[in-house]
Amino acid sequence: MTVSAGARLLEGGPIATEIRAGVAADVKAFVAAHGRPPALAVVVCGRDAPSMVYLERILKGCANAGIDGRLVEIPDGDASSQERAVVEALHRLNDDRQVAGIIVQMPLPTGVRLRPVVEAIDPAKDIDGIHPLNAGLLRLGWDGFVPATAHAALEMLHRSGVTIRGAEAVVIGRSPVVGMPAAFMLTREDATVTVCHSKTVDLADHVRRADIVVVAAGRPALVTGDMLKPGAVVIDVGINVVDDKLVGDVDFESAREVAGAITPVPGGVGPMTIACLLLNTLHAACMQNGLPTPKI
Ligand code: NAD
Repeated sequence: MTVSAGARLLEGGPIATEIRAGVAADVKAFVAAHGRPPALAVVVCGRDAPSMVYLERILKGCANAGIDGRLVEIPDGDASSQERAVVEALHRLNDDRQVAGIIVQMPLPTGVRLRPVVEAIDPAKDIDGIHPLNAGLLRLGWDGFVPATAHAALEMLHRSGVTIRGAEAVVIGRSPVVGMPAAFMLTREDATVTVCHSKTVDLADHVRRADIVVVAAGRPALVTGDMLKPGAVVIDVGINVVDDKLVGDVDFESAREVAGAITPVPGGVGPMTIACLLLNTLHAACMQNGLPTPKI
């Protein structure tokens, strides 16, 4: 993909490669010290096709980084027996000292309640930041695990040298896994943050004031170039399929004419998400073994 106007292309691939290489090196040192790699358990309840592709990528990422990726499959059954089986599997993984991190495939099958499942994850192993304790820590501006996609969006800003302190930031989307954690992280880093959502009356009016725009709505072409402040940094988290092609939530062609920097889709935030999960698994392993936080 080429960028004709002034916008700098913020590609996730090279940054993700850098993070993965750092994780792999530290995992090697962990294995040398402990005689075993840290494990990341992926709990799968119902084989929902798009998320299986994502989970397979996570397991491949684990293998490449030297992390022991484990797929834990919950047998089919009615919702209440599946819910019980997921909670029991989580308790077993919590007790397994080799397992550093746990993620649970989302969405859960119909009838399996989210709350008992997320509450059953040990917060110290909750590397995707979905347990209420980690969500609360983020809300308070304290350290804890944060959801990987929001983490990836912020890492794109950090590692591209974008100034967050004092910036006007608009986050489009208020989901607990992307929009809200991104907004809390930006607030913690001293941006002035506005959260827009499906009931926002004049989206363009908000976006026009933003130095940083994070878009996570799942609506193709929701943000167009004419809505942007010239020079704005645009982080497009959206993943949509239009005419068999993967596109984000931003109309890339018009936005790149006005933006100062922009992430492509595919190749922007996407590759960073799994790299952040691997990094969090390493963090968890270090914390659980009293080692210092890795500097990657
Ligand atoms: P979600 O459906 O839970 O939330 C969407 C949010 O967008 C809601 O808060 C809603 O109010 C808001 N919204 C919807 N229409 C809007 C509109 N017209 N104007 C303003 N706001 C609007 O989705 P999610 O799980 O937060 O995911 C958001 C997007 O990010 C999706 O496209 C998803 O596929 C993508 N995603 C990408 C990654 C990645 O690794 N890159 C990971 C997770 C999700």
